[in-house]
Amino acid sequence: METVTPMLRQYLEIKKAYPGTILFFRLGDFYEMFNEDAIVGSRELEITLTARQKDSPNPIPMCGIPHHAASNYIARLVRKGYRVAICDQTESPGKGTKLVKREVVRVITPGTAIDPQLTQSKDPVYLAALSQEGVDTVGLAFLDVSSGQFYSTQTTGAGSLQKIFDEIGAFGPRELLFPRSMERLICQTFEDQDASPSLFEDKIGKNVVSTLALTPLDDGDFEVAEAKRILADHLAVKELTAFGLEGKIAAISAAGACLRYARETQRASAGHISEIRYYEPADFMVLDAVTLRNLEIFESRGEKTRNTLFGLIDECVTGMGSRLLKQWLLRPSLKRGEIQTRLAAVTELSDSIVREKLRFLLKKVSDLERVIGRLNMATATPRDLVALKQSIEQCPKVNDVLADSSALLLQVLSENIFELPEIRDLIDRAISDEPPVAFGDGGIIRFGFDSELDDLREISSSAKQVIAAFEEKERERTGITNLKIRFNNVFGYYIEISKGNLSRVPDDYQRRQTLTNAERYSTPQLKEWEEKVLSADENIIQIEVELFKKVRESVCAETPKLQSTARALATLDALCALSEVAARRNFVCAVLHDGDEIEIKNGRHPVVEAGIGGSFVPNDVLMNNSTDRLLIITGANMGGKSTILRQTAIIQILAQIGSFVPATSARLPVLDRIWTRVGASDDLASGRSTFMVEMTETAAILHNATGRSLILLDEIGRGTSTFDGLSIAWSVAEFLHDSPEHSAKTMFATHYHELTELAESLPGARNYQITAAERDGNVVFLHKLQAGKASKSYGIAVAKLAGLPQPVIERAKSVLEKLEKYELAVFSDERKIGLAKAASGRIAAQFSLFAVSNESAIDSLRNMDVESLSNEDARQLLLDIKQKIV
Ligand code: ADP
Repeated sequence: METVTPMLRQYLEIKKAYPGTILFFRLGDFYEMFNEDAIVGSRELEITLTARQKDSPNPIPMCGIPHHAASNYIARLVRKGYRVAICDQTESPGKGTKLVKREVVRVITPGTAIDPQLTQSKDPVYLAALSQEGVDTVGLAFLDVSSGQFYSTQTTGAGSLQKIFDEIGAFGPRELLFPRSMERLICQTFEDQDASPSLFEDKIGKNVVSTLALTPLDDGDFEVAEAKRILADHLAVKELTAFGLEGKIAAISAAGACLRYARETQRASAGHISEIRYYEPADFMVLDAVTLRNLEIFESRGEKTRNTLFGLIDECVTGMGSRLLKQWLLRPSLKRGEIQTRLAAVTELSDSIVREKLRFLLKKVSDLERVIGRLNMATATPRDLVALKQSIEQCPKVNDVLADSSALLLQVLSENIFELPEIRDLIDRAISDEPPVAFGDGGIIRFGFDSELDDLREISSSAKQVIAAFEEKERERTGITNLKIRFNNVFGYYIEISKGNLSRVPDDYQRRQTLTNAERYSTPQLKEWEEKVLSADENIIQIEVELFKKVRESVCAETPKLQSTARALATLDALCALSEVAARRNFVCAVLHDGDEIEIKNGRHPVVEAGIGGSFVPNDVLMNNSTDRLLIITGANMGGKSTILRQTAIIQILAQIGSFVPATSARLPVLDRIWTRVGASDDLASGRSTFMVEMTETAAILHNATGRSLILLDEIGRGTSTFDGLSIAWSVAEFLHDSPEHSAKTMFATHYHELTELAESLPGARNYQITAAERDGNVVFLHKLQAGKASKSYGIAVAKLAGLPQPVIERAKSVLEKLEKYELAVFSDERKIGLAKAASGRIAAQFSLFAVSNESAIDSLRNMDVESLSNEDARQLLLDIKQKIV
């Protein structure tokens, strides 16, 4: 295009190097967007779309925002999942028309954004990368750029991808990097089913599903040798063995891609990313996204509220404490030693005086992890340094409180809390107590820190005083009492004389500007002083920025000690929180053992209890891998079946993060995984029906559960016809009881009363019921778990409570009566025939399933008037009946 100006040519070249981003192009005091970026930007930011070269045949769409307000606009775009490339002027505009150099200085993406506006103090911001090596080895890495936490893992064998997707679902990263060759698969997994696979081709903004931005990279970016080099260079090691990464090529490739992307987009040294932790998914208790949702660990009905387990136990007073606690909940420990070490610390912190002292001190600690992150990413402000100083001022006091502790973990934490007096002192001497946010305002560096700076300040302020004195002198000389000397950025210092006094203006005043009511003047002398002030002020800012950088570098040099301190303070905060919850909510310390029994006395569901106050009915639960491995739980709808299931899992999870538990006592094993299949939830977004979702989840459980798992099944098979559903529920329960590999402790809440027969015949199964009583036709929930099967399900009583019309209730009762009669009759007949001899009696029970379906056939026989039947009719009737019966 000949019409392209040099500036636009520069724009287009830079834009080409940053596909998939919205380019913020600095022009004077504005960031401008052009072409497609301008169309998207003006729509998303609700700003006016204009055009450059308006009158040409091809006007260029354009919109812009003032540079000083950029961070708000960037935050809005990134929150919506866009990537924003910031292109700044990298030289000051000289005289003449020469084009200024411009470069992209940072790309802000959903997974790498560390600005306080884009981060929530309680949530880590993960950037994830996924890579595949060979057919069935998948690697995954998570990097939280804001705090420097860096993890990676890999899995091999059938189902690896699914395991990795589970891991992604649980961690909830903001952005996922993957090789372009996996684009279709990733799209199908994380996008709407009908999303076009070519979605990413230079399109921006569409590739966002809820909060996960999908970012394909060239396959070459995942190259293992290069990844190894990047990681080793950055972590300053020769080999990655020290991080447990030896031979883990998929994990290395993912981690390399993650680190490189973070460094390239942020254009910073990222010295705070100082280690990477390799873990096996099997190192932790696995809680997949479905289970986290079903147990309402972090979210309740899609919302982060206090009505979740995390909301309840997060008594942390720092953001980093909350994030660590979240991490513990996401991945409870499998190491009994580690759990017991934490429990010992929580026990010691139950001394409320010690705990209160620590919490009081921790409240003054800011988000050190993120401050260190910002310092190393060169985005820290002077206020971050003050916050850092105030935080480390608490360290000696915290160590004082910990000095007498006997719990090993508390002693270790104290050893890891560094007091760093030199850093504290340096910041104290260098930075003012309340520095401004922006560098241009001056006043960051304290008086007495740098003599050159102080001299310049002296010059600037004395010149300002001289100007003030000059104003006074000129008033006297001219006799104009309202003569003013003022300053603005365009004209510098000027003398302002109102219109009425113009006749008294001396000859040596030079006129600069005319306003409606006044004239503005200057004098050579005023210009001279102005020069002094301005050049001193300019130097002051420059020196302040330089000094700030130096201080920042000295602080950054202590990154390892600062990180260790931050981690230890966060751990202390999380432990104090667990102890605080235990005290407030009456939790006790569980006994963990190497056996397989779960033995809970008076267990409670802490979140339900918090919701209903003192009326919660505690319950005992006993399970093991032999006589009590399958509990079939029946009882009225709304009786509390789901609650007892969930509370058992929650008690187990709490124990494995090192928390006390809501019970009067508990003996617990260490479990490898909790599986849940709870309630009916249509996964509408993925177009799968309730039943399909249910069966997919059930299949995963049956294939993967182990003897160390706990399975919660809350109604299985309800999404299809009764017989289908019951048959599936029946065989699933049997499988979980019998399977040599996949038999696991299972709590099965069900409305299918037929299943209680199963418990009577299987040696490891037990019937439990949640009790309810009927008074005057109304159901009263007792919420008590007792051995035995529920005599009825109270469905109609509950329907009545819910306000179904009386005639419907009456009719339902009569239909039920009839159904029950038929079922019992046929069932007892089968018993008589002696089919119980078929070992466990299962077959007998199965016959009862079919009794109801034969009911309509029997009904038609019963209603038939044999006398009046013709031969042809009789033949037809028999054919009909034959078709009906099973
Ligand atoms: P179900 O699964 O049997 O339909 P839920 O477990 O969903 O019943 O419980 C329904 C409601 O009953 C809960 O929301 C809670 O308010 C109350 N509830 C459940 N268990 C208890 C209990 N042990 N003590 C007091 N109230 C309970």
